[in-house]
Amino acid sequence: MMKIEEINVTAYTVPTDFPESDGTLCWGQTTLVLVQARSGDTIGLGYTYADLATAKIVRDSLAPVVVGLDAMSIPKAWQKMRAILRNQGCQGAGAMAVSAVDNALWDLKARLCGLSLVELLGACRKSLPIYGSGGFTSYTDDQLRKQFEQWRDEGITRFKMKVGREPERDRHRVRVARETIGPEAELFVDANSAYGRKQALDAMECFSLECDVRWMEQPLPPADRAGMRWLRERGPASMEIADGEYGYDPAYFREMIEAEAVDVVMADATRCCGISGLLKIAALCEAAQLPLSTHCAPLLHLHPGCALPPLRHAEYFHDHIRIERLFFQGFPKVTDSALAPDLSAPGIGVSFNSEIAERFRQNF
Ligand SMILES: [Mg+2]
Repeated sequence: MMKIEEINVTAYTVPTDFPESDGTLCWGQTTLVLVQARSGDTIGLGYTYADLATAKIVRDSLAPVVVGLDAMSIPKAWQKMRAILRNQGCQGAGAMAVSAVDNALWDLKARLCGLSLVELLGACRKSLPIYGSGGFTSYTDDQLRKQFEQWRDEGITRFKMKVGREPERDRHRVRVARETIGPEAELFVDANSAYGRKQALDAMECFSLECDVRWMEQPLPPADRAGMRWLRERGPASMEIADGEYGYDPAYFREMIEAEAVDVVMADATRCCGISGLLKIAALCEAAQLPLSTHCAPLLHLHPGCALPPLRHAEYFHDHIRIERLFFQGFPKVTDSALAPDLSAPGIGVSFNSEIAERFRQNF
């Protein structure tokens, strides 16, 4: 038996390049919690973007129940981690801690098998379509233009921007974005729950009519599933409603799907109890005939994204691209608005640049 011998957790906080905000939050830094799972000389990498409290949960609660288990039996580790969090709660930070460990275990298993992760999971496509995601509400028109132009020049054909902080200014900002990317590119907006129901309906009609926006993400607080369904029934037929980034376990997604709240399910393997959780959510989407789109952490979703039939595309998120390109050697280049996994490298195909990361390291 190849045992999981060690779970090592570290955390790194990286400042953003400019102040950032969306419809409901402002931020100036991002923390990556990295888990390295070791069996013999082989180390698997997994991570989440979360508060330092998540790293403590990994160290104090999860590592003790995972060390000693069979590295081939990820479902066993997944069950044990979720069980030990019963009293603390397995949502939020708990689920993000499980995610970081679970993701490391998948990379470890693939490396131990001498396979790329997508080969271990079973591929259904060669590359993962992506969309550029940024367009923060804190940006000037010039910053917005520059960011989208850079992605356009890299060959990206889908773009997402934040809306909802200053609704009167959004009409203008969305027009600036459309003019920058041209009439053929796909344009998405994300309100991060900034709207009320009727306000959201107004915004959807306006963005659709004036700028051919095809995707409205999280118009309402995620708990207002009836409101999301109300919007789906009344909004422009060419505009899809997407949500799911705050889903921390498969049950959340079952309820969201049953409520007919979304046209596209979004899920994040750094939150939904890891790649193991994502596989279950993909099965729910397949059964419900709904497309799936992954949220943030593009590197982590690359291999699973090429193995999940209902997957449509992945979010190529500005903050996370910066961190993942800096910290992980082997992050692939964008080709035809997609990322292709390197099948010749084991696991997720990257190594961790610990020397570069060191200056961002946090104590916990
Ligand atoms: Mg979002």
